[in-house]
Amino acid sequence: MNAVDKVRRKGISTNTLPTPFEIMCECDSVFTMSTHEAKCPTCDLVYGVTPCGAHSVENVVAVGYNY
Ligand SMILES: [Zn+2]
Repeated sequence: MNAVDKVRRKGISTNTLPTPFEIMCECDSVFTMSTHEAKCPTCDLVYGVTPCGAHSVENVVAVGYNY
Protein backbone atom coordinates (compact mmCIF):
# COMPACT_ATOMS: atom_id res chain seq x y z
CA MET A 1 0.00 0.00 0.00
CA ASN A 2 1.48 3.35 -1.00
CA ALA A 3 1.25 6.66 0.86
CA VAL A 4 -1.81 7.82 -1.09
CA ASP A 5 -3.69 4.58 -0.37
CA LYS A 6 -2.82 4.99 3.32
CA VAL A 7 -4.02 8.57 3.67
CA ARG A 8 -7.18 7.79 1.71
CA ARG A 9 -7.90 4.83 3.97
CA LYS A 10 -7.35 7.03 7.02
CA GLY A 11 -9.57 9.72 5.47
CA ILE A 12 -6.91 12.40 5.79
CA SER A 13 -6.11 13.10 2.13
CA THR A 14 -7.31 16.68 2.43
CA ASN A 15 -5.84 17.36 5.87
CA THR A 16 -3.25 20.10 5.78
CA LEU A 17 0.42 19.34 6.27
CA PRO A 18 2.31 20.83 9.24
CA THR A 19 4.55 22.51 6.66
CA PRO A 20 3.66 22.82 2.96
CA PHE A 21 6.19 21.33 0.54
CA GLU A 22 7.47 22.72 -2.72
CA ILE A 23 7.28 19.80 -5.14
CA MET A 24 9.57 19.71 -8.17
CA CYS A 25 7.50 17.51 -10.42
CA GLU A 26 8.76 15.07 -13.03
CA CYS A 27 7.22 17.41 -15.64
CA ASP A 28 9.65 20.15 -14.47
CA SER A 29 6.93 22.32 -12.97
CA VAL A 30 6.94 23.30 -9.30
CA PHE A 31 3.84 23.37 -7.15
CA THR A 32 2.98 23.69 -3.48
CA MET A 33 1.74 20.57 -1.74
CA SER A 34 -0.26 21.62 1.30
CA THR A 35 -2.29 18.47 2.00
CA HIS A 36 -1.40 14.80 2.53
CA GLU A 37 -2.51 14.07 -1.01
CA ALA A 38 -1.88 16.45 -3.89
CA LYS A 39 -1.85 16.46 -7.67
CA CYS A 40 0.45 18.34 -9.98
CA PRO A 41 -1.72 20.97 -11.71
CA THR A 42 0.33 20.64 -14.88
CA CYS A 43 0.56 16.89 -15.53
CA ASP A 44 -1.91 15.37 -13.00
CA LEU A 45 0.73 13.22 -11.31
CA VAL A 46 -0.55 12.36 -7.83
CA TYR A 47 1.66 12.70 -4.75
CA GLY A 48 1.15 11.59 -1.19
CA VAL A 49 2.81 11.61 2.20
CA THR A 50 1.80 9.86 5.41
CA PRO A 51 1.44 11.74 8.72
CA CYS A 52 4.57 10.02 10.09
CA GLY A 53 6.54 11.19 7.05
CA ALA A 54 5.06 14.67 6.85
CA HIS A 55 8.10 16.27 8.49
CA SER A 56 10.22 15.89 5.36
CA VAL A 57 9.66 16.40 1.65
CA GLU A 58 11.89 13.36 1.08
CA ASN A 59 9.01 11.16 2.21
CA VAL A 60 6.66 12.46 -0.49
CA VAL A 61 6.04 9.81 -3.15
CA ALA A 62 4.58 10.01 -6.64
CA VAL A 63 2.10 7.21 -7.16
CA GLY A 64 0.79 7.75 -10.69
CA TYR A 65 -1.01 10.02 -13.11
CA ASN A 66 -4.65 10.64 -12.12
CA TYR A 67 -4.17 7.92 -9.56
ZN1 LIG B 1 3.78 17.51 -13.05
